[in-house]
Amino acid sequence: MNNLAPKLTPDQYEKNFSEIHLAFTRNQAVAEANRCLYCYDSPCMKACPTHIDISTFIKKIATENLKGSAKTILESNWIALTCAKACPVEVLCEGACVYNERGEKPIEIGRLQRYAIDWYFKHGMPQLFTPAPKNGKSVGIIGAGPSGLACAAELALMGYDVTIYEGKKLAGGLDTWGIAPYKMSYEDSLKEVKLVENFGVKIKTGVWIGEDLSIQDLERRHDAIFIGVGLDTSPDLKIPGEDLKGMHDALEFIEKVTTRKWSSVDVGKRVAVIGAGNTAIDAATEAKRLGAEQVMIIYRRSESEMPAYHYEYELAKQDGIVFYFLTAPKKIIGSNGVVERMECIKMKLGTPDVKGRRVPEPIPSSEFHIPVDMIIKSIGQKPAEQFLSQISNLKTQNGKVVVDFETMQTSNPKYFAGGDCINGGKEVVNAAADGKRAAHGIDKFIFGK
Ligand SMILES: Cc1cc2nc3c(=O)[nH]c(=O)nc-3n(C[C@H](O)[C@H](O)[C@H](O)COP(=O)(O)OP(=O)(O)OC[C@H]3O[C@@H](n4cnc5c(N)ncnc54)[C@H](O)[C@@H]3O)c2cc1C
Repeated sequence: MNNLAPKLTPDQYEKNFSEIHLAFTRNQAVAEANRCLYCYDSPCMKACPTHIDISTFIKKIATENLKGSAKTILESNWIALTCAKACPVEVLCEGACVYNERGEKPIEIGRLQRYAIDWYFKHGMPQLFTPAPKNGKSVGIIGAGPSGLACAAELALMGYDVTIYEGKKLAGGLDTWGIAPYKMSYEDSLKEVKLVENFGVKIKTGVWIGEDLSIQDLERRHDAIFIGVGLDTSPDLKIPGEDLKGMHDALEFIEKVTTRKWSSVDVGKRVAVIGAGNTAIDAATEAKRLGAEQVMIIYRRSESEMPAYHYEYELAKQDGIVFYFLTAPKKIIGSNGVVERMECIKMKLGTPDVKGRRVPEPIPSSEFHIPVDMIIKSIGQKPAEQFLSQISNLKTQNGKVVVDFETMQTSNPKYFAGGDCINGGKEVVNAAADGKRAAHGIDKFIFGK
């Protein structure tokens, strides 16, 4: 990179990456819990993909029964700390809270959940669940992300011998390597990994299935297999100059930031992020918090089509991120092999495509140049097709593994799947729900229950 942003002081990094949602104090938690109306039809519970009994865990906080509250939460969701801190609650449980209809502030369900689960981890994970006696069956899980961990925890409690194979050196998937540090730290994710290990689950890190251990060996070892491999990196932009120094993949950049060794992550003075999904927003705000002077988001559609959640967009605006809507990159121009500027073209929205989204079309002769020192590509993640193609008779559609949504069983009966590899990239809570459901699908497959 030609123009590096100056490094910040340790205090500045700590301040920039400090948590945006603070923990409740005891008084705040009890007061907030007492606001809950304990609705008869619990719209919040229905809106949560893991269907946590929200009003019950909140009631237990009101009576200061935090152990009971944690148990109620974990009975439905093994990834409860990450979800408490990183779930898009505005569009899920809190978005469904009846207070919204009355024009009042919804119950802060995420922060209350965090209050109970923080208590559970701070108190050394008191035993709340007892695994059933071993049933003699073994399940292999590919990937230690939230879907794999949730599936493993549930199976271990049912008496299965469970081994998770994880390619990376740390388990947790994107909870460890992807979620913005101002929402949660990777150490939080590792607490959830420990919780799952406490149930007797074996986690073998540094093992890529299909490379370090073959699919055939895996099949020989286990009675059933869960695929929780998530997605791959971003696809290519397919424009000239993509191989210049200073071009980065969003996930690779974000991964360096989540390790919290902030001073070792180089960032340009002027950064352009291509794409406007939640990951693009994370990459942009993280670049800004590392000290970039100017961060721009380049998006080929308009503001109303951007896939990022509204509150993520607001966060980016608060951080001073500049948005170029209806703009597409056309060429990346460098000098001496290093990114220097980006040629963009203005777009207009044409007729709707099959999904009903208006297709962006270039406006002839509207090219212009933006000087940049670093470009972060964040145009969605590719499916892990190369890996998935190694499993025989595994049906995919647009790269997503096809499952029966009741059991999460794939077209190859020995395999079950969940999380981003089946939905193309949603949220942690969806992965947690899928993993748990798959565990019951596996149990039905093995024992016919
Ligand atoms: C940058 C970013 C930020 C996000 N922020 C949020 C957020 O704030 N809130 C939220 O709810 N969601 C967020 N998400 C989405 C969320 O992280 C994912 O939906 C969720 O992690 C998916 O879980 P998963 O188990 O399917 O896959 P992953 O979390 O991707 O885990 C898959 C695991 O499988 C491993 N693996 C892959 N292939 C193999 C193989 N062949 N052998 C062995 N191991 C393998 C991978 O190394 C990885 O650890 C974010 C996503 C991204 C990309």
